[in-house]
Amino acid sequence: MSTLVLGHMNPDTDSIIASLAATELLNKRGIEAVAAAQGDPTPESKFVLEKFGLTAPKVIADVAGKDIFLVDFSDLAQAPKGIETAVVKGIFDHHKLGDVTTSSPLEAVILPVGCTCTVLTKLYKYFGVEIPRNIAGGMLCAILSDTVIFKSPTCTEDDKKAVEELAKIAGVSDVTSLGLEMFKVKSAVDGTPAKDLVFRDYKDFNMNGNKVGIGQLEVVDLSILDKVKPALQEEIAKVKAEGRHSVFLLLTDIMKEGSQMLICSDDASVVEKAFGAKPQGNEVWLPGVMSRKKQVVPNFEKAFK
Ligand code: MN
Ligand code: MN
Repeated sequence: MSTLVLGHMNPDTDSIIASLAATELLNKRGIEAVAAAQGDPTPESKFVLEKFGLTAPKVIADVAGKDIFLVDFSDLAQAPKGIETAVVKGIFDHHKLGDVTTSSPLEAVILPVGCTCTVLTKLYKYFGVEIPRNIAGGMLCAILSDTVIFKSPTCTEDDKKAVEELAKIAGVSDVTSLGLEMFKVKSAVDGTPAKDLVFRDYKDFNMNGNKVGIGQLEVVDLSILDKVKPALQEEIAKVKAEGRHSVFLLLTDIMKEGSQMLICSDDASVVEKAFGAKPQGNEVWLPGVMSRKKQVVPNFEKAFK
């Protein structure tokens, strides 16, 4: 049975590209694997796939009874249906260890770097496998996306080094301009329903028994979102009403390097507790906050204790 290699729910560029890159690496090692994803690629991911002539992983909804390999996550909350009866063969990730467990030994490489594709760059070397040119281009973009062109506090020296190596293989001379081009595509919201924007990069967390949803939109200029903000507020209120304690939506300005957070909560005082900033109405500006994983989630986890 070939192993399905898949990233998290609401797949971002790292989940899509890491699936392709890990599948290639497994295949080259003689392990039968197929790239999969829990959804269609975002406009940003589509741009990257087209730019480097890559094909999107096939969308799957249920993994019951299947052999699977996880990339870019290890939480059950981010897993597809049927995970209980799937056999997790391995994990390549860069997040905190989640609650996925296995009944037999697995191959797991989780490193505290900015992107799964940085982990994979190291693994290609470790296994002595050459990275194909088009996959290198995709991996390079995934790292630029996850690290917000090296501006995110999650970015490490290893990520920068990986980008340098991948750029050589892919023949990319100016990585910053490629990154900005990609973020401009990501910023385009015209004609996109508010619901799609909220779920474009959305994750649920269990915070001390409370279900908390946190979404993030990264744009090159916050004013792009002025017109859709009321619709976004309405949409997160609907998501909260489905049985969540809170839903937060981070509107991250990658040039100003901070986030406007939209708030819908049973107890908005958690926001001040977490960040020391007083919300104005149902939003708050958080200077320097770019990373959900490294800045927002840990702060909320403390505030919910
Ligand atoms: Mn991701
Ligand atoms: Mn990632």
